[in-house]
Amino acid sequence: MTKPESFITNGIRIDGRKPEEIRPITIEVGVLDRADGSCYIEHGLNKVLAAVYGPREVHPRHMQKPTTAIVRFRYNMASFSVEERKRPGPDRRSVEVSKVSREALEPVIFTEYFPKSSIDVFVEVLQADAGTRTVGINAASVALADAGIPMRGLVSACAVGKVDGELVLDLMKEEDNYGEADMPLAMTQTGEITLLQMDGNLTPEEFEKAIEMAQEGCKRIYEIQRNALIERYKRDIETEEEPLETPEEEPVEVETVVENEAEEETSEEVESE
Ligand code: ADP
Repeated sequence: MTKPESFITNGIRIDGRKPEEIRPITIEVGVLDRADGSCYIEHGLNKVLAAVYGPREVHPRHMQKPTTAIVRFRYNMASFSVEERKRPGPDRRSVEVSKVSREALEPVIFTEYFPKSSIDVFVEVLQADAGTRTVGINAASVALADAGIPMRGLVSACAVGKVDGELVLDLMKEEDNYGEADMPLAMTQTGEITLLQMDGNLTPEEFEKAIEMAQEGCKRIYEIQRNALIERYKRDIETEEEPLETPEEEPVEVETVVENEAEEETSEEVESE
């Protein structure tokens, strides 16, 4: 990948977006049969899958907490998700992303309802194009809701960055790699910030504006998450409301059955005699 000569031309970014525009997002809920909750998100060129298991018994047992559930979050990037093959397995970056993502979600989960148990979240990045930690958090939040984990609300995440001296929302790969700053933020639906990180430099004024932009992005993403969940459960409700077809029962010919039994009995008697 080479650095583009300019990132913004006549107010339009290299992928055709305006500075305050997020990438197109599609969310599918309940995509995995064996998970308690799951979600698949395409966010621009990112493709991310989240699976939630639990609340369930904690293994190893010594990790159990007597009064609350523990939340475990594993972020993993598939080796084929990036341009050059990534070495499989955990690395420093995935350990860090897992930790901050868990911390971004934990405050909204009613962990106190499930003492001694665990809620396990797995995020698999299948295709990466910048902002995967934010997409992972968005997917995990929907998957937790799909799993029926009691929550105070959803968490939505979005990054802001700076390219060509201008703030831009939701960086794509070139902007992330060659930009001057990258600031992922996650917030609850009531506006509390649960994740804030920053790479690069911003002036205090830019920082304040960046927070506002990220919050706006999160609000838009929240609407998409919410609609995806409504869509999923609307489908369930609609199928449930369909009148149940009762199969017409074939009449049992009682007399024939009795006759047959009687015949069998007689033949058995004859045989034993
Ligand atoms: P985020 O994906 O949350 O923005 P980073 O800023 O650490 O996290 O990474 C930015 C982007 O760089 C990723 O989305 C991915 O496209 C790319 N990237 C990350 N790790 C690797 C890697 N090991 N090899 C190639 N590209 C990577």
